[in-house]
Amino acid sequence: MFQAEEFRADLHCHSTCSDGSSSPEELVGLALNLGLSGLSITDHDNVTAYPEILNMAKKQGLLMFPGVEFSANFQKKSLHVLAYSFNVSHSAITSLCEKHKSRRIERNELILQNLLKKNMPLSWNEVAEGHEGSSLGRPHIALAMVKRGYVNNIQEAFKKYLGDGKLCYAEGTPISLNETLEAIHQAGGLAVLAHPHLINNNAFISEVLKLPFDGLECYYSKFPANDQKRWVEFAQKKGLLITGGSDFHGSNKPDIPLGCSWVGKDTFMKLLAHYQSHV
Ligand code: AMP
Ligand code: ZN
Ligand code: FE
Ligand code: FE
Repeated sequence: MFQAEEFRADLHCHSTCSDGSSSPEELVGLALNLGLSGLSITDHDNVTAYPEILNMAKKQGLLMFPGVEFSANFQKKSLHVLAYSFNVSHSAITSLCEKHKSRRIERNELILQNLLKKNMPLSWNEVAEGHEGSSLGRPHIALAMVKRGYVNNIQEAFKKYLGDGKLCYAEGTPISLNETLEAIHQAGGLAVLAHPHLINNNAFISEVLKLPFDGLECYYSKFPANDQKRWVEFAQKKGLLITGGSDFHGSNKPDIPLGCSWVGKDTFMKLLAHYQSHV
């Protein structure tokens, strides 16, 4: 629980609509129990939680605006872009989500074929079981591998087989960063480069940020304060919004609690006002 007067908003978390273990409704309840004042649910490549969850949060007294985390490709590398405060029904967003849905189906199928070649057969049904209605990805495949006993845990599945460039990895048809930013902006949203700490290449980040980003995720998960300070200074220099969030996935990443990274009232209200200005 935080001090009642302290405004904290977590702008990065995943629900069962992608690879989190809590439903959107449960996330709202969890946020309120923790004493958070604001939240944005940022599922991977889909906005299924919206707009319904906004009404529910409003009734319960939690401030929210739409969010999503898009996978995008730039110079043959994959990165994540958070979008906030966009119109969830805008065709630019809904068609980008549809495109991701097809990409994931194709890519997941290729990964299962690669696993079969390594004598680790998995049926699509066992990957999807218990995750009906979710946008499925590598974490779901990893979980099915653990259940079958192919690996001891999810980390091992990523490290040996599913991580970018690993033995059974498949990319599928990538969606470009340019296309992603354009769709976000067409839908009235703001584009934020997610977890820059995880991109281990400064020259690459500089190239990425030459594109029309609006913000940088400087506060992330349980990253050390020094690391965060570096990104805050970087964002300030570039005139980018400074955002942050936990990247909560529930029991799928049990060491990362909701609200362990957050933004204060000023940033949250700026993003909320942006949303309210076009709905
Ligand atoms: P996908 O969206 O299907 O490409 O899967 C990527 C997601 O898998 C990331 O957003 C993380 O949530 C998760 N992930 C990536 N690497 C790991 C890892 N080493 N351990 C656990 N989860 C991971
Ligand atoms: Zn995830
Ligand atoms: Fe991410
Ligand atoms: Fe995330």
